[in-house]
Amino acid sequence: MKINENFLKIQNNYLFSDIAKKVAAYKEANPSADLIRLGIGDVTRPLPEAVTEAMKKAVEEQETVEGFRGYPPEYGYDFLRSAINRNDYAARGVSLSDDEIFVSDGAKSDCGNIGDIFSVDNLVAVCDPLYPVYVDTNVMADRSGVLQNGLWSNFHYMPCTAENGFLPQIPDKKVDIIYLCFPNNPTGMSITKEELAKWVAYANANDSLILYDAAYEAYITSEDVPHSIFEIEGAKSCAIEFKSFSKTAGFTGARCAYTVVPHELKRGGVELNALWGRRQATKFNGVSYITQRGAEAVYSEQGKQQVRANIAYYQNNAKVIADGLRKAGFTVYGGVDSPYIWLRTPDDLTSWEFFDLLLHKVQVVGTPGSGFGPSGEGYFRLTSFGDSEKTREAVARIVSVFSD
Ligand code: PLP
Repeated sequence: MKINENFLKIQNNYLFSDIAKKVAAYKEANPSADLIRLGIGDVTRPLPEAVTEAMKKAVEEQETVEGFRGYPPEYGYDFLRSAINRNDYAARGVSLSDDEIFVSDGAKSDCGNIGDIFSVDNLVAVCDPLYPVYVDTNVMADRSGVLQNGLWSNFHYMPCTAENGFLPQIPDKKVDIIYLCFPNNPTGMSITKEELAKWVAYANANDSLILYDAAYEAYITSEDVPHSIFEIEGAKSCAIEFKSFSKTAGFTGARCAYTVVPHELKRGGVELNALWGRRQATKFNGVSYITQRGAEAVYSEQGKQQVRANIAYYQNNAKVIADGLRKAGFTVYGGVDSPYIWLRTPDDLTSWEFFDLLLHKVQVVGTPGSGFGPSGEGYFRLTSFGDSEKTREAVARIVSVFSD
């Protein structure tokens, strides 16, 4: 028996465990320290009441012979696929059929598993910095080559820094699979329809495939920023889209997401929709009825209002962080169409030096940008998912030190 040695090549992403270790050591040395954590990428507001009410009702149905549900359909119940279609697509002028929508337990699993339906022999393009799942799953699948100075030899990297407005540059050669994430984690920056249309044109001209991660779509406030890549003409023949109820409606624990694979998307004469359907039917057994009823309730009138209130809460935190830090002289990005604030570290500090400084001087925990890729060096990520009072307090502490 031989293991898949590609797993050994993956550099354990020590980022969050390194942070945890440093925080634990600081806590031990300073037991009374009042730490504020603005590093987490998890939501803190409870599930909307409309969602929990729908879930409770679904639980009660399970107590009756008539209402009991066994295995769910692998691709999602019709009621949820159609609610997604009506609210997230038809309402935005995008025409899809329900069977182009695959309900799942997370955008993370779908972004990671989608590689199953592609040959190993594909040139993959990724942004730097990035959500690490895109790279690590391609390393597992043997598409990466070897690691040199923090970058894999077979990937095409697209640095996203202040110099290019955090927008990846369209490759000057043919690449096969392109991971795009907008609004972006970690930079918090978004892409306009006009810019995204250039990617769609490139992908169609080169027979490339765009894997579009729109997990943070619900945070978009700018008019010219698309909520779906399928708002761009021509995207159905070159893109797969990932969306999630996690950051939209607080489902990080409940688990529900979906992936759109249009019928128009074909390679080698084969519909990718059919391949993904085959993959899911073989390796995935669906999301629970209770969870899917909860997700459906996100689209009820009450659900929509409650979701909007939660998002507004986080958006307000984002504004407090961005405005406060700007006033203190920081250069701040993101936070407008996204829950993430991406700031330049002051005085040419490295990302980790700035992490240590914030921890030791003001007891605020964030995430070093270099943990998301080499081009994240010199940047730092703060999130708006915390408690609003604590967020204000954290900003006041940082400002008190840096306005001097
Ligand atoms: N995609 C991005 C860019 C993310 O940042 C995250 C979570 O942090 C996910 C996907 C995962 O979403 P889910 O909770 O649906 O698995």
